[in-house]
Amino acid sequence: DSMAKTTHIAVVSIPAFSHQASIVEFCKRLVHVHHHFHVTCIFPTIDEPLPATLTLLKSLPSNINYTFLPPINKRDLPQDALSAVQIQLAVSQSVSSIKNALGSLLSTTPLVALIADLFANEALEIAKEFNLLSYVYFPHSAMAVSVFLHLPALHQQVSCEYRDHKEAINIPGCVPIQGRDLPSHFQDRSSLAYKLILDRCRRVSHADGFIVNSFSKIEESSERALQEHNRLSSNKSNNSGVYLIGPNVQTGSSDEGSECVKWLENQKAKSVFYVSFGSGGTLSQQQMNELAFGLELSGEKFLWVVRAPSDSADGAYLGASSDDPLQFLPNGFLERTKGRGFVVRSWAPQTQILGHVSTGGFLTHCGWNSALESILLGVPMVAWPLFAEQRTNAVLLTEGVKVALRPKFNDSGIAEREEIAEVIKGLMVGEEGRLIRGRIEKLRDAAAEALEEHGSSTRALYQFGTQIESFVGQP
Ligand code: UDP
Repeated sequence: DSMAKTTHIAVVSIPAFSHQASIVEFCKRLVHVHHHFHVTCIFPTIDEPLPATLTLLKSLPSNINYTFLPPINKRDLPQDALSAVQIQLAVSQSVSSIKNALGSLLSTTPLVALIADLFANEALEIAKEFNLLSYVYFPHSAMAVSVFLHLPALHQQVSCEYRDHKEAINIPGCVPIQGRDLPSHFQDRSSLAYKLILDRCRRVSHADGFIVNSFSKIEESSERALQEHNRLSSNKSNNSGVYLIGPNVQTGSSDEGSECVKWLENQKAKSVFYVSFGSGGTLSQQQMNELAFGLELSGEKFLWVVRAPSDSADGAYLGASSDDPLQFLPNGFLERTKGRGFVVRSWAPQTQILGHVSTGGFLTHCGWNSALESILLGVPMVAWPLFAEQRTNAVLLTEGVKVALRPKFNDSGIAEREEIAEVIKGLMVGEEGRLIRGRIEKLRDAAAEALEEHGSSTRALYQFGTQIESFVGQP
């Protein structure tokens, strides 16, 4: 209704591209469903805005605007900490800027609600101070959200390191999960990463609701578990306050002329195996060699986004090294695979690649955006998780919805070349791969349906907006 009064909300994200992209796509869909909503996105920043995010922000509708907070200097963050920890510390150091930004927004605009990324949920307390409704945005699977919500209870129930827990752990609404497949932040209970995530997971219960970038059909039991959790912990309303609104993924194709897409044009349908570890995942030098030889041994065509190796799995998450990644490939690799393989340095137009008819498989680090893109575009996966909640996603993809194969890693944590080649062939030409393709094509259709006008995710977005408005004007 174009005559309706504008409803203003604010959104707080974190300095990580995949989180920013996810929440921005959510905002775009929100104002598309509720034309009279206006959203202001607030981005805490490390050093300077991320180039990929700036590209994304070029195509915003007029009822979304954004502001970058005064940057935190990367050199002031503990240099030896994980990226995930550095990011959270940068957000904590930005709390007073978040408060200022909201304060000045409120002086001109009748804000009603604030939505914060899980890793920026300090903002929930600011929302309370300003008397705003508050929501947590999870760019995660509903299974991962259930795991996060359950951490405070797990912390009480389990006394050893989770990876030493003998049996698989049962978490409401989730396939049983081995302790080692819980998020990487959980893996050392004496670490700062663990303390930070435990605090965050306790804090989410103060929110008025959860927005999750997934869709009902793929995660019905996790969705029910989240609703149940909220029903037990909230005294706010009868409405469960859980909204599965996805898959929200990037749709823009900014890189039309890229060389790798031109190369894909000349390949047979579903013949190319795409390899990428997200916006910042990295392998050790030894693992990179094994992967190179594995691709070579498989005999399949491949398109590989190559990064310089690093000893830490999130080695390029806050900026890639300036070394040319191709120099770390085995001797003669490029010559031997010429014509059969195509390598791209550091970054590729992923959704264009996954959407291309020539692409037939995807080796992914199981970042949730990558997984959703693969589902929405119907591409079978090899699950190769590296950090954050990627192992949890790998369990969902391989054991829950069964649309991925997971290679075995040896006792030193390395996937060996023969194993890699077997898994690639299994996915691209094997019987298991054929079954996986059948299942992921069904999921692709379910994902598309969820996003239709009367689909579950569109209805959830609609209900989210009406819930906010039903509170407006109430004391
Ligand atoms: N991405 C891309 N090109 C690349 C690597 C990543 O466009 O070369 C995009 C990808 O399509 C996805 C996001 O970056 O939308 C990565 O998000 P994900 O949650 O998969 O992983 P993260 O980067 O958080 O590890």
